[in-house]
Amino acid sequence: MCRHVGYLGPPVSLAELLLEPEHSLLEQTWAPDDMRQGGTVNVDGFGVGWYREGRPEPHRYRSLLPMWTDTSFASMAADVRSGAVLAAVRSATVGMPVVVTACAPFSDDQWLFSHNGRVDGWPDSLAAAASRLDVVDLMTLDAPTDSAVLWALLRRSLRKGRDPAEAVRELLGEVLAESPTSRLNFLLTDGEVLVATTWWHSLWVRGEAGSVTVSSEPFGGTGGWEQIPDRRLVVADTSNVTVTTLPDA
Ligand code: GLN
Repeated sequence: MCRHVGYLGPPVSLAELLLEPEHSLLEQTWAPDDMRQGGTVNVDGFGVGWYREGRPEPHRYRSLLPMWTDTSFASMAADVRSGAVLAAVRSATVGMPVVVTACAPFSDDQWLFSHNGRVDGWPDSLAAAASRLDVVDLMTLDAPTDSAVLWALLRRSLRKGRDPAEAVRELLGEVLAESPTSRLNFLLTDGEVLVATTWWHSLWVRGEAGSVTVSSEPFGGTGGWEQIPDRRLVVADTSNVTVTTLPDA
């Protein structure tokens, strides 16, 4: 399954965060440690979203190349600094297309979103939920994948002003009601707060003075990382990390 990372804290370069550390997201592209029956490598493209000081909307770079072969990104990553980043490397679920628009993070206004996992029974299992999307939602679907539909549903709630943690929790419940064996590790940010779930995939959090990192796998050494148990909702900013248990599906 895909791997994702969210970071909030003092500005760092994208290279310092994603490429240079021991077992970085870059290394997790070809040598992830904990894929849990979801593929072996994450080479079906990648994406990075980052925020700039004083601007609520993030920038985004997505590529269909495996992260390690994208030399344009590598040269840019050393020069781009940000205090809020969400990045993901993709391993396409069987039956879903390998297209750049299927690579997280998905984006809308100030939001960035990633899904690590799969919706079992796709696409039928999402038909009931998707029937509530309107024409504009469907026309602006990023890609014909489970994750893109999940994003369209979440984006709809966020546009209505729903609290992000509540919107994520509702989405999880809605999907599990139709497809209880789904794997649903979500990661959402607006550059101020990170909201994440664990539902059948790994997640780790490292809170340090003034920064917080949420990642599918620990990187940059094992010190300071806390493993999040399965079936949890994580809400984190640079001063607090709250972990709550999610109800059974
Ligand atoms: N199902 C999603 C996709 O195909 C996510 C894949 C994953 O987590 N490996 O894009």
